[in-house]
Order: sequence, then C-alpha cells, then structure tokens
Amino acid sequence: MLEDRLKEELIQIEKMGSLRQFRTISYLNDQFTINGKPMINLASNDYLGLGAREDLVEMFFKQELDQKLPTSAFGSTSSRLLTGNFEVMDQLEDLLKNTYHREAALVFNSGYHMNVGIISAIADKNTLVIADKLVHASMIDGLRLTNTRFERFRHNDIDGLERIVKRNIDSYDELIIMVESVYSMDGDVADLRELVNLKRRYFDKIILYVDEAHAAGVFGENGLGLSESVGVIQEIDILCATFGKAMAGMGGYIVTSQTIKDYLINRSRSLIFSTALPPIIYQWNKFIFQHIRSFNEERNALHMKAAKIRQLAKDRGFDMPSSSQIIPFIFGDNELALQASDYLNKEGYFCPAVRPPTVPQGTARLRLSLTASTDIANLEVAIDALSKFKKQ
Ligand SMILES: *Cc1c(COP(=O)(O)O)cnc(C)c1O
Repeated sequence: MLEDRLKEELIQIEKMGSLRQFRTISYLNDQFTINGKPMINLASNDYLGLGAREDLVEMFFKQELDQKLPTSAFGSTSSRLLTGNFEVMDQLEDLLKNTYHREAALVFNSGYHMNVGIISAIADKNTLVIADKLVHASMIDGLRLTNTRFERFRHNDIDGLERIVKRNIDSYDELIIMVESVYSMDGDVADLRELVNLKRRYFDKIILYVDEAHAAGVFGENGLGLSESVGVIQEIDILCATFGKAMAGMGGYIVTSQTIKDYLINRSRSLIFSTALPPIIYQWNKFIFQHIRSFNEERNALHMKAAKIRQLAKDRGFDMPSSSQIIPFIFGDNELALQASDYLNKEGYFCPAVRPPTVPQGTARLRLSLTASTDIANLEVAIDALSKFKKQ
C-alpha cells in the first residue's frame, strides 16, 4: 500500500535525523520569528537586507505604480507565449541586456525553472555537458530531464576539467561547461578568469554556463555578479542569476545571445508551459534591478562583516574555503554539527546544521549566511563558543 510504504520511509528518514519539515516564519515589528520565537536569521539569502526594507516597498508603490493597480497585476493568467507577456516583461529584459551590454536577456519564473529549462532545450546528442561536482540540484535536474550526456569534474579543479575537455573535444560538436560563481555550501568561488582562458584554448567548441545565484547583487561594482568583478561578463555564453535571493524578488534571468534566447522561447518547456510570473513581480524586479548599483553601502557592509566572521573562524582553527557571505563552520561529525546548531538556537540564532547527503560525507557543518543587516557584534561572542564543539 502506498500510504504504508511512504509512512515507513518517513519513519526511516526521521530515524536518520534528516526529516524535513516546514517552519513558519513571520516578521513581528521587524523581528524575525520562527515558529513564534524571535530569532536572528543566519540562514537568509536576503544578502543585501532588501527584503526587510519598508522604505523600498514604499518607494516602489509611490514611484512605480499608478494610483490604480494595473489589470492582472497579481496574475498574468497565461504563459508568456500565449497572452501572458506584459509590457513590463519586455522592459525588464531590455534593462537587463542593456545593463550587462549583451545581445539578449530572458526571464524565467524562477532560477529552478531556468536551470531545468535551458540545457534540456539546447543540448542534443552531439553535446556533452561537463559540470562541476557541486553545482546546484536544478542544473542536475535539467541534465536528467532529457538524458543529456554529462560528466562531472572535481570541484573547482580546472586541470581535471581540461583533461575531460581534451578527451572529448573531438567526439562532440560542443562542450558546455557548467559552474556556479559562488557556491552555496562552501561559499567559495569559481576561477572565472581561468575558465575563460580554457574556453579560449578551444575557442569555437566550448560554451560557458555560469550560475550567479549567490553572487548577483552581491559582487561587482554595479552588483552584476562575480563575472563583473572579474571582468568577464562578455565571455560567458549563458550567464544566469536569480531575482529570488539578494534582489528579494522572484524569477531567474539569463543574459546571452539573441539566437539562444530565440531558441529557448521556442524550445524551453519550463518557459513555454507555465503561467508567467505576475506583472507586479516583474515591476518589483525591474525596480530593484534599476537600483542595484546604488546599494554599494549594503555590499560593503556585507563584505566587511563576512571578512570579519571568516577571520574569526580561521582564528579558531576552522578550515575556511569561503571568500563570500556564505560561511561554513565544518565540524565533520553530524552529531557535533547538530549540537552546535542547538547551541546557537538557544542563543537566539537560527542556523540549521547541514549534513550529508546535502554536503559530502564527513563534512557536516553550520552554514552561516550573512546579510548586510546582520548584527555581528553579538554574533562574534556566539561564534567564539562554537570552537568547543570542534573535534579535538
Ligand atoms: C537558489 C538557486 C537556484 C534556484 O533559484 P530560485 O530562483 O530559488 O528557483 C538556482 N541555482 C543556484 C545556484 C541557486 O543557489
């Protein structure tokens, strides 16, 4: 019986201590609460703190919306391919492509839709995808959707990647290299410059696919991502990001060539067969993106706080792969990571332990993710105490 089998499996999941459950969060007078308890959120993707900014919401309603809400503001009622493509959607894509100085931009309903919908559309039997071992689940799902041929290379190992390239370059029409710019579990970064150099060595055969989900808004002089800080925006064939994290909106976007955009509009099933995001969300994304370069103060605050916490962790003997706002405290042992998480919880911080299989065996951890508004003065004290959970 289905019900019995599922119940049995849920019991097993719970026994392993990996049962996933929703927690209910709210903001009471600005105070983040979780299941009713006021906490400091150390698991947020709202990296610039924009999601909690009432002044921005107020400005948005004053400047961007007429007195009367436009028709269908909260529901586009159709796919963009049918009757769901409102003017603001074209405007947002124009803004994106002009800001990145690229031929074209395309918005998907989420970063997940984006990663599932791109490779599955553009790859054929003469395509090989070579993906970093740690890329996001949405990219893997995109590869599996149409049984795309793919290989994985050891995380951030460019020499290993090049060996796979050499071995396969003559057997395929094109090789698509898939990476993230900032990785979600270690907070470390890809060497985009080296990847671009590698692409140049095999110039007409390599397509670079880079997901900047954790870097868009956060890195770069104008907040366009790590590819902006490294100066390689123009070299990345499919540059992806999300509005859902630092931009406190919703939707995935890519900047790319006109041909790739046109092709995706014709063949990307997650774009074609899903109702478009509500126009008001596009309006918000556009509003935030128009201002993204102006959030330098927030970016600087975030980077300063992150550098401080990383240093503190290093001083306490933690390995520190991160060079971003995502900061892992790796305990190795599942039980120790859980104890550390419970400790922070009692101190009023929400920071769940991340364990295998989400991360590799033996690397259970706390994963702190900071925002521009995280109060780190008190956090330093709490972190000091974390070292007592380390294996001696
Ligand atoms: C969060 C994330 C996504 C998914 O984006 P959503 O907009 O949340 O669906 C895709 N890729 C990476 C690397 C992410 O971290």
